[in-house]
Amino acid sequence: MISSEKRADILQKALKYFEKANITITGDEKKRIEIADFGLNEIEKTGLEILTYVNTDRVCAKELVMLPNQTCPEHRHPPIDNNDPGKEETFRCRYGKVYLYVEGETTANPTTQPPEAPAGSYTVFHEIELNPGEQYTLYPNTKHWFKSGNDGAVVSEFSTKSRD
Ligand code: ZN
Repeated sequence: MISSEKRADILQKALKYFEKANITITGDEKKRIEIADFGLNEIEKTGLEILTYVNTDRVCAKELVMLPNQTCPEHRHPPIDNNDPGKEETFRCRYGKVYLYVEGETTANPTTQPPEAPAGSYTVFHEIELNPGEQYTLYPNTKHWFKSGNDGAVVSEFSTKSRD
């Protein structure tokens, strides 16, 4: 659990990133930014600050703020049923740098490392660097994780319905 003090601190930092990225959000949106620590209780290392703009039955758009060297842990979006192959995501970097790790050939000298985690938590190491204006699409049911650089990052996520 994140203490309310910690939450307020992280939220203030996240709001600064919206300003740095020149992304205007409403007062109401500021209040509903989610601080996700994925139950790991190490928000500065492993976590995301998320503003969901829209999430309908078919489309989803979010802004993800990443504090410096913050990681979104490895996961995949499996098929839901015969009609839904699972979530497809496109990440577009708006500010800072984000290093995306996907299935494929392991990058020989990766720029970053995952946070310390139980063995098997991180298994894909094909690195894709995204700078502002660059984007990458992840197809459903493929493993991925991502980490910001030293300046943090703001990343727009466009996807099919989010069930996370
Ligand atoms: Zn994902």
